[in-house]
Amino acid sequence: MFSVDLKGKKVFIAGVGDDAGYGWAMAKALKEAGAEIIIGTWAPIYKIFTSSLEMGKFDASRKLSDGSLMEFSKVYPMDATFDKPEDVPTEIKENKRYKAYSHYTVSEVAELVKQDFGSIDILIHSLANGPEVKNPLLETSRAGYLAAVSSSSYSFVSLMQHFGPFMNQGGSALNLTYVASTKAIPGYGGGMSSAKAALESDTRTLAFEAGQKWGVRCNTISAGPLGSRAARAIGFIDTMIEYSYNNAPIKKELSACEVAQAALFLSSNMASAVTGTTLFVDNGLHAMGIAVESPSFKQ
Ligand code: NAD
Repeated sequence: MFSVDLKGKKVFIAGVGDDAGYGWAMAKALKEAGAEIIIGTWAPIYKIFTSSLEMGKFDASRKLSDGSLMEFSKVYPMDATFDKPEDVPTEIKENKRYKAYSHYTVSEVAELVKQDFGSIDILIHSLANGPEVKNPLLETSRAGYLAAVSSSSYSFVSLMQHFGPFMNQGGSALNLTYVASTKAIPGYGGGMSSAKAALESDTRTLAFEAGQKWGVRCNTISAGPLGSRAARAIGFIDTMIEYSYNNAPIKKELSACEVAQAALFLSSNMASAVTGTTLFVDNGLHAMGIAVESPSFKQ
């Protein structure tokens, strides 16, 4: 009998801001397996997230199978768009949603995590941002496109650069991608499809570099649609969930927990020879070449 035991393992997850997204579900799955969870929360929502946590708003979803509540060892404010303090523009530093914080760039958060915890075993990137995501690519500005790639793809490169040096041998790094990287998905605009293509490509290259340098594996999960806060902001998530339900090989709604279980596998020693891969966790939708629910099949 195999079971996943992550006791003694330290996990850093960048991109947990509520209990509705993939980041939260992965935190919970890894915690259930015994790991210690440290998170990075986007600075502008840090206060609302930590105060909601303290006020018990997430208690129902914090509940673990043994009845205890999931605890985070530490929550750091973070903005993965910036690598070092010099990169932060004055208007951001002075912005009321950032002003109360310091040390939220990737290099600074990494340094704090290293000081506080010494080393980590598992690094998870569960964040994306594309300011023009609602614009078709033909109407996306250069600035919007580059911002999408900076927040959603380079942020993973930066995390690897800064956390990799204090990750333990045999560790695992993981990010989340979307099928729009290789197939046209109208509505997923603003350069986000390009950002996911870059993220997948970087995962392969970093699998080689981080594998050789630190013995760290690096994979990506291509997740199906989930009604998270980020996905709701794009605007067409309910249609995508319904489309998937009607057309995927497995006819059921995808739960965040199913993606989290795949993350648990990839983060564990059961996947000790798995690196550089894109694992689809989408009820099989990516394998379809046609939409079976199309009116064309109903004549
Ligand atoms: P989510 O809202 O739970 O997570 C996105 C997180 O990114 C939020 O907590 C947000 O605060 C954070 N974030 C945004 N910009 C940031 C920055 N500059 N620095 C640090 N954090 C920042 O939504 P989710 O859908 O669970 O997204 C997690 C990952 O899953 C993303 O990479 C997303 O593209 C991917 N994904 C989602 C779906 C879906 O349908 N929801 C499908 C495939 C892949």
